[in-house]
Amino acid sequence: MDKSSTRTRWQAYYSTSFWLRRRKLQLKNEPLCRMCLARGIVTPAKVADHIEPHQGDWNKFKLGALQSLCFDCHDRAKRLIDLHGYGLDVDDDGWPTDPKHPANKMR
Ligand SMILES: [Zn+2]
Repeated sequence: MDKSSTRTRWQAYYSTSFWLRRRKLQLKNEPLCRMCLARGIVTPAKVADHIEPHQGDWNKFKLGALQSLCFDCHDRAKRLIDLHGYGLDVDDDGWPTDPKHPANKMR
């Protein structure tokens, strides 16, 4: 599949009035960056991010859970996931939280 055309198609989702309302509501409900906050840093959030990537699925885009992030955290997290295909966050036990992480596939 042509990746660039998929990206373009998703981008249209982000200019729908539905999304602009949802994004605004998310940032109002959760005004601080969640990832910064987890590290004890208070940063105003700028991005309403889908916790589970919607991959162009309109229903997931519309209904999937959101988290508020600052630009830095959003770019950093997405870059890692693009690079590895999974996130590198770990829980309190040091176990990767992303179900796509290879360690979770072996369980
Ligand atoms: Zn942040």
